[in-house]
Amino acid sequence: MLTKDTAICIRTVDYSETSQIVTFFARAAGKISAIAKGSKRPKSAFDGPIEIFSYGKIVFSDSNKEKLATLTEFESAYGGPGFSGLSNNLFVLNCCLFGAELLNNLTHDYDPHPMLFDDFLQFLQNSQQAKSKSEMLALLILFQLALLKEVGLRPVLNACANCKTRYEGRKTRDEVYFSSSANGLICRDCETSFPDKIRLTRTAANCLANLKLLAESKEKTLNEIETVLIHHFTELLGRKPKMAKYILNPSS
Ligand SMILES: [Zn+2]
Repeated sequence: MLTKDTAICIRTVDYSETSQIVTFFARAAGKISAIAKGSKRPKSAFDGPIEIFSYGKIVFSDSNKEKLATLTEFESAYGGPGFSGLSNNLFVLNCCLFGAELLNNLTHDYDPHPMLFDDFLQFLQNSQQAKSKSEMLALLILFQLALLKEVGLRPVLNACANCKTRYEGRKTRDEVYFSSSANGLICRDCETSFPDKIRLTRTAANCLANLKLLAESKEKTLNEIETVLIHHFTELLGRKPKMAKYILNPSS
């Protein structure tokens, strides 16, 4: 049976001289992996090799969900490789690759997430327009939080995840922590129960409790939040995401 969908390519692997295995995040179907036979031949049904972040209409056969699907058509929404602007800036590209890696690792095959698809598409589109490293980091943080929410892992950021005391009610001098095992912020009264906690600066905690502040935050604060999120994703996945090292120390 042939299925039509709108999809973004989030991973490609060479399969042979002429074919690729491509992973698409599709709006209606969810994540699918498919073989694109002959995609690397000069004349193919796909207008050349399929590149990561290609976006458009796909047709695939998924007669047996246990096996790889077969991609039969891909038509770019842009009449060319989508999001070509991403490759102009290495940091922007790496942030988008990081987003794709997390999306791939936190979703299951054939598990539809149309809102997350829209969030990811918007993230890629906004990233192309990012004018500074801070702006890009803020977009990445917002996408990472949207991803966690959509896969049912939304962290508690406006209250203590343990005792539920509202964040705004705390004294401004009180220490605030993030704990991966608690899945959210932890107050000073609860912190001893969470050995994995990381202490946050007040500025970073304020930002997490009120995400609107991210847009005007300094790079230092955004780096601090991203460090915490990378730690959190490392705990969730049981290993450090591959792209993480290009985000916090891009020069090394
Ligand atoms: Zn507490």
